[in-house]
Amino acid sequence: MSHACDHHDHNHAPAPVNTAARLAEAQTLCAEAGERMTTSRLRTYELILEASAPVKAYDVIDRFHPDGAAKPPTVYRALSFLEHMGLIHRIESLNAFVACGASDHSTGSHHTAGFLLCDCCGQSVEIALPALGAVDSRAAEAGFKVKRITLEARGLCQACRQDD
Ligand SMILES: [Zn+2]
Ligand SMILES: [Zn+2]
Ligand SMILES: [Zn+2]
Repeated sequence: MSHACDHHDHNHAPAPVNTAARLAEAQTLCAEAGERMTTSRLRTYELILEASAPVKAYDVIDRFHPDGAAKPPTVYRALSFLEHMGLIHRIESLNAFVACGASDHSTGSHHTAGFLLCDCCGQSVEIALPALGAVDSRAAEAGFKVKRITLEARGLCQACRQDD
């Protein structure tokens, strides 16, 4: 991720992710849901877990094999499966994907995700949001069934605000 600012000394190291443990959890989750965690789904999830910032689909395609790219439809199908399982979220404003930061996926529920997106360094942080029941009831009044809500807040992270 290129940096728009010149404060390169800030600490952007993301919290280390235990990729192996997360992959094992995902396999358990899929087995419990009666879904197949195929090699391509697992590899796609691994690439998103390992990324330090939201990843675009074409980056997953490029990095898929050590010696070459994946077939795009394979990756697009894997991404929509992982999103369906609640393992990753799509950040619409970046057209990119991040691993869900919630610690418990056992319900398989699609919780309401909120993201703090830094315009300077490109980091994203997932935050828990209060229940948005008011949105559901207003939507119901309009005859609308909400399937998912993603809140995307743009701004500057703590490290990138140090020059303020
Ligand atoms: Zn999440
Ligand atoms: Zn930042
Ligand atoms: Zn910065």
